[in-house]
Amino acid sequence: MTRGRAPTASLVVKVGGSAGVDLDAVCRDVASRWREGERLVLVHGGSDRTNQVAELMGTPPRFVTSPSGHTSRYTDSDAMEVFLMVYCGALNKRIVERLQRLGLPAVGLSGLDGRVLEGTHKRSVRSVENGKVRVLHGDHTGTVERVNAELLELLLEAGYLPVLSPPAASYEGSAINVDGDRAAAAVAAALGAERLVILSNVPGLLADVDDETSLIPSLTLAGIDAAMASAGGRMKKKLLGAAEALRGGVEQVVLGDAREPAPVSAALAGRGTVIAVSSREE
Ligand code: ADP
Repeated sequence: MTRGRAPTASLVVKVGGSAGVDLDAVCRDVASRWREGERLVLVHGGSDRTNQVAELMGTPPRFVTSPSGHTSRYTDSDAMEVFLMVYCGALNKRIVERLQRLGLPAVGLSGLDGRVLEGTHKRSVRSVENGKVRVLHGDHTGTVERVNAELLELLLEAGYLPVLSPPAASYEGSAINVDGDRAAAAVAAALGAERLVILSNVPGLLADVDDETSLIPSLTLAGIDAAMASAGGRMKKKLLGAAEALRGGVEQVVLGDAREPAPVSAALAGRGTVIAVSSREE
């Protein structure tokens, strides 16, 4: 294992859990950058695997669309069991295992561990169904409001690579499902990271979701609201996360493609949608 003293992370990488995401390529790229001295935190999702396991367990996933058009998982107690199993279990450990095989001192954490991610428990959710708004109770979700940056810094300074996933801890001490993209944004802001890379199974933000050649190569913070209109539910969360990270002091957010051979490096080289507070020409 290559441990050594290091400053805290200048980069946060979030890798999604959608079909097509190449975790091996992401881990290889993270490993080669780490060996060159780059310090980072890796945040991961796991939506696809969670859906598969939920089906296998006989508790199919349920998604709700809020009146403002945001789609999210309805996380009742059964869904939370599956969520914990997949995110904190197999997925996190398989990423840690990969990175350790590549010689990296990876430490897997969920937002619950050491209360790295904290937020308010939202117990009900408004859902638009057949044009009508319904209120669903028993939801275990929330939004990250606080990050235990001290614990992440402690690990980084001791030479470890934190591999972090939802859920977060509510202030009452229960597990809450939080969006991984927005969690990564909160982590990047709390650590004072310069860059946040959000990798998914698309080249970046597309003008037309069905046309991979319609990539929007750059965007400013002021342009995010307008771009939100062309983004589908799940891409909206990434744009929201990007805006939160930039407002929190992160210099640049790149929405990149996790199907590339070296996805983190490609995104940092500008392949994807590069989002900054203002454009270079301004
Ligand atoms: P992950 O699980 O990898 O974080 P998500 O599935 O949550 O990723 O979000 C990526 C998905 O967002 C894409 O697979 C795509 O179907 C969807 N999407 C909706 N609108 C857009 C858009 N305008 N540009 C790119 N992707 C979009």
